[in-house]
Amino acid sequence: ALLQQAEIAMYKVKQSGKNNYHIFMVDDAAAIERKRRIEFGLKEAILHNELYLLYQPKVKIVTGEIYGVEALLRWEHSILGLVSPVEFIPIAEESGMINEIGYWVLHEAVKQTKDWHNQGKLLSVAVNVSALQFDDPYFVKRVQNVLDLYELDERYLNIEITESVMKNTDYANKIIKELHDIGVGVAIDDFGTGYSSLSVLNNMFIDTVKIDKAFIDHVVSRKNTASLVKTIIEMSKSMNFKTVAEGIETIEQSSFLQQHNCEFGQGYYFSKPIKPDEVITLMNKDKP
Ligand code: C2E
Ligand code: CA
Ligand code: CA
Ligand code: CA
Repeated sequence: ALLQQAEIAMYKVKQSGKNNYHIFMVDDAAAIERKRRIEFGLKEAILHNELYLLYQPKVKIVTGEIYGVEALLRWEHSILGLVSPVEFIPIAEESGMINEIGYWVLHEAVKQTKDWHNQGKLLSVAVNVSALQFDDPYFVKRVQNVLDLYELDERYLNIEITESVMKNTDYANKIIKELHDIGVGVAIDDFGTGYSSLSVLNNMFIDTVKIDKAFIDHVVSRKNTASLVKTIIEMSKSMNFKTVAEGIETIEQSSFLQQHNCEFGQGYYFSKPIKPDEVITLMNKDKP
């Protein structure tokens, strides 16, 4: 990919001549400088209290009832401002900081969920885990330790992994089974964007399939997407997975999914990612 980028860069240089070459170099330098700042900034982010979590409600589509949340990481850097996880997570992975950040997220999310339970709100929490975090031989042990520390019942924690974890299928499945054995659920995130098929997942200890937003975006407007999503829901059901649709933004998308028996949903139509106390407010408002 790097070579390809270099080739594209060379092509641009050839096309644009000398003056633009200069501009290109400046842009490139700025991008490198930003990445460097992010990498160095991340090293101090935990220490400086710059990380926090927002929680996006997950609902039962039929009733709109909130049954759980997904923890989404936020980073407010003193100079760069709010940096998106889409930008900083890959840098954290590259520079070997993802494990430390990942455990910070796990602690924070489990602590918060226990807090909700103490307030009488029995929410489940989903935590995103990068493929690299599975490489830690003590991963499952550490998850167990965090649950013990905050005395949260295992059933209320879900781990969201993407298909990239499945590159090493046998090893991934061993970890997933270990999580399953201690009572923690595992969801396949962004389903449909990777290479694995539902039949592969059938032989694994997975509980939940999350249909990627890219499909939900066109579920009403494109016939092909609609039938694809219907098939995913049916197959997922037949394999006893819970099915969650992510990125639901409109009532039309929500109705489509409800009609075709997708039980759970998440998206701006229900709620954006919000602060912990806003979750409580929203749940109380929903009550008749
Ligand atoms: P994801 O796990 O697929 O999370 C869903 C993303 O879609 C979130 O973006 C969420 O805010 C956004 N989203 C949810 N509903 C809607 C909607 O209706 N419309 C639109 N336009 N967007 C919606 P966010 O929070 O920026 O996170 C982006 C990605 O960063 C996540 O994608 C996940 O892959 C990664 N990420 C976030 N937090 C963590 C973390 O704690 N650890 C790891 N490893 N990755 C994380
Ligand atoms: Ca996720
Ligand atoms: Ca997702
Ligand atoms: Ca996604």
